[in-house]
Amino acid sequence: MSNGNVEKAILAEMGKPRSGLIDRVTRHNQILMHNYKQSVARSCECQLLGCPRSFSIILVPNQVLYPKYCEAHRSEFRRQNFLRGFSGQPAVYRVETFRVLTEPESPPSTGA
Ligand SMILES: [Zn+2]
Repeated sequence: MSNGNVEKAILAEMGKPRSGLIDRVTRHNQILMHNYKQSVARSCECQLLGCPRSFSIILVPNQVLYPKYCEAHRSEFRRQNFLRGFSGQPAVYRVETFRVLTEPESPPSTGA
């Protein structure tokens, strides 16, 4: 779903205190800044309040948008359902998801 223009637009909006674009994309996605030069698999925790699940994503070079919720919570309906059970009221939680990732550590050397 992502192309270089989207990433550029997001980066340009990052500095603003309030951005409609950021609000829109972070409804279903999280922004993960990284400068990986190759695809890296990574485990992410579901951003839905109270969900203990984690899921794996592949970080792709020059891409900053990634799924924010585990497979069970990718749809609005399922999230609302979960939140209703969790909190007892259909409140909307706005969770800021923005993280800066550092370069992956070089793989551990085997032996001396
Ligand atoms: Zn979840």
